[in-house]
Amino acid sequence: MTETNAFQMVVSRIDAICDRLNVKDAYRLRLESCERELTVNFPVRMDDGTVKVFTGFRVQHNDTRGPAKGGLRYHPDVTLDETRALAALMTLKTAVVNIPYGGAKGAVVCNPKLMSQGELERLTRRYASEISILIGPEKDIPAPDVGTNPQVMAWIMDTYSMLKGYSVLGVVTGKPIEVGGSKGRLGATGRGCMVSAKLAANHLGISLNRATAVVQGFGNVAYSAAKLLAGEGCRIIAISDTKGGTYNPKGLDLESLPNYKKETGSVVGFMDTETISNTELLALPCDILVPAAIEDQIVKANAADIKARIIVEGANAPTTPEADKILNDNGVFVVPDILANAGGVVVSYFEWVQGLQAFFWNEDEVNRQLQTVMDNAFHEVLEMSRHEKVDMRNAAYMLAIKRIAAAMEARGIFP
Ligand code: NAD
Repeated sequence: MTETNAFQMVVSRIDAICDRLNVKDAYRLRLESCERELTVNFPVRMDDGTVKVFTGFRVQHNDTRGPAKGGLRYHPDVTLDETRALAALMTLKTAVVNIPYGGAKGAVVCNPKLMSQGELERLTRRYASEISILIGPEKDIPAPDVGTNPQVMAWIMDTYSMLKGYSVLGVVTGKPIEVGGSKGRLGATGRGCMVSAKLAANHLGISLNRATAVVQGFGNVAYSAAKLLAGEGCRIIAISDTKGGTYNPKGLDLESLPNYKKETGSVVGFMDTETISNTELLALPCDILVPAAIEDQIVKANAADIKARIIVEGANAPTTPEADKILNDNGVFVVPDILANAGGVVVSYFEWVQGLQAFFWNEDEVNRQLQTVMDNAFHEVLEMSRHEKVDMRNAAYMLAIKRIAAAMEARGIFP
């Protein structure tokens, strides 16, 4: 479905904002390229005794404002270009929410669904060892993304610690609580989406406890966003996974759905629901649409069919620039990915801070601090959007690029 290559799409958005803000070429050129890119091809012993060679990447887009930060994706179709795009989005995201990080992303081309735990552990440990020349608590800090989870982070932390000879908690975030994870991290991205939806609804005069929401995806971000929105009184009328969607205009039973998915392998066919395609799901009438699966879902061909009043981008890059224009013309209020799904990296930042200080907070404190950061960022972006008369995505890019350019100006160029 890609309308243009992924990194080029982010670059073209950065370029347009740099034009508008009159950003110096020296800064623009740095934002439009990635600082460091490592490709690794490494062997993994499979359960049947054969050896396979896997390809992985770690891309640091920019570290002007602090250590590079970004998730690790395990997916059969992931490419270096996509990893670059996701790394650039991380640089912008950490700047929008004003935490002292740059942006990075990692990936391994593999299908974790077809691998045993043993194979995944060996793959993760070897990948961690291969990229250990780049990562570190002061340099570059991975976290979970599509296809990875707290267990994968624990293996990376352990491998890195073994290489160093002592335990290094701060090398990854999104770890299990037992090894320095933060309370509230698992649901943090979904919580940030819920907070964004609430702020957007409030701005438009929509009451969440009378609102309906449609969520695309059924992973970490999608399910936690759905549950938290339901907790605010919102009726979740449809949700989906790779096999399709499940729809009930009266609302879904979110408590029973995970068990059903565990037993059958999909959310499709859940009791008292109608089966719909992912394309149909995106076009359902609702107040809030949360695309929280993968990129390039709202494109030129389907943007005009969207009936939601608010889109909260749980996923990274779910909307193409062509689709953005159509949504804007139709008055859809889009909370862009670099703001809407920043809850994960914000609580990752809290986890890193807690690990460095060896002092851990309770969950209420984590959620309270997250709320404050999201609230500030949302209002700063909204203010920029009013002042510059642009949509929320352009406003978020403006806020981020201004902050990064100011940091570049302050640091100067070495030597
Ligand atoms: P995940 O692997 O837990 O879940 C992905 C979900 O998407 C799965 O339920 C899968 O079935 C579904 N899916 C995949 N392709 C689909 C398709 N074509 N149509 C419908 N559903 C499909 O991943 P996640 O961590 O929840 O990440 C989801 C999105 O959120 C990604 O874009 C990721 O980059 C972004 N994100 C994640 C985090 C985080 O903290 N995990 C933070 C910020 C952004």
